[in-house]
Amino acid sequence: MNFAIAIHGGAGTILKSSMTAEMQTAYEKGLQDALDAGYKVVEDGGSSVDAVAAAVASLEDCPLFNAGKGAVFNHIGGHEMDAAIMNGATKEAGAVAGVSNIKNPVLLAKEVMLHSGHVMLSSEGAEEFAKQQHLEFADDAYFYNQLRYEQWQEALKTDTVQLDHSDKKFGTVGAVALDIHGNLAAATSTGGMTNKQFGRIGDSPIIGAGTYANSNTCAISCTGHGELFIRSVVAYDISCLIEYKGLSLQEACNIVVHDKLVKIGGEGGLIAIDKLGNICLPFNSEGMYRGYRKNDGSASIKIYKD
Ligand code: ASP
Repeated sequence: MNFAIAIHGGAGTILKSSMTAEMQTAYEKGLQDALDAGYKVVEDGGSSVDAVAAAVASLEDCPLFNAGKGAVFNHIGGHEMDAAIMNGATKEAGAVAGVSNIKNPVLLAKEVMLHSGHVMLSSEGAEEFAKQQHLEFADDAYFYNQLRYEQWQEALKTDTVQLDHSDKKFGTVGAVALDIHGNLAAATSTGGMTNKQFGRIGDSPIIGAGTYANSNTCAISCTGHGELFIRSVVAYDISCLIEYKGLSLQEACNIVVHDKLVKIGGEGGLIAIDKLGNICLPFNSEGMYRGYRKNDGSASIKIYKD
């Protein structure tokens, strides 16, 4: 039985010319650590749900990515995070929107899926639930990051809403996995957009838009301009093209990312895996932090276009 995992750390205008060798090494290490964390779970026979949660939690702990510790500042100087997880075997899903001071929002989304009886909880209600479930909290200092602060100040000055770094980079993180039991899962986590309006929710926690998994079709985690990804119902659209039109994962991804999204100006990308373990990592932006590892020994970590 095949097993595999793929991850992303955001898409956008990521140019080699604006990256130092040290920064590139640090990004690659962040991606490698997350891949290792997730791969180990499926390699040990664990579930794809646990694998994507482990990989995304690892990326949330890395300050380089716009999720968890590295979450960007919103318009009023706070951090509001969104996350989701979905089990493709049972179609159970859990999501949180606009949560603050939660160390690993993806783990809270998993608790919502398993123990709340609901699919999505937001802001204070989600934080209250996190306390009940004994999730780890972190104070504002944990989420403070000088670079993110400067990005926010810059965005305030120009009165713009920025997609992570000033040069249009989407820093959301995500993972998709296939386990030895043949089950798919997906998870996504984000700090959203720099200087976003207080209360704004992106595509990441919206099941079917930024995150979706169905063990009969595919598992998808998106990164990009959330509003356009919501309006395009991106993740479910890919699953539907496979389910109803019999397209391959690659064909479905091409239509959605390189045609439909481009036509409405939806910049970004996604990671996708199907039940056979095929992986696609398409994006219509300059670059996307991404990587995968399969049980056949193939593996890769990339940032820029090929
Ligand atoms: N999709 C995310 C959002 O709109 C942003 C990102 O991918 O970085 O919240």
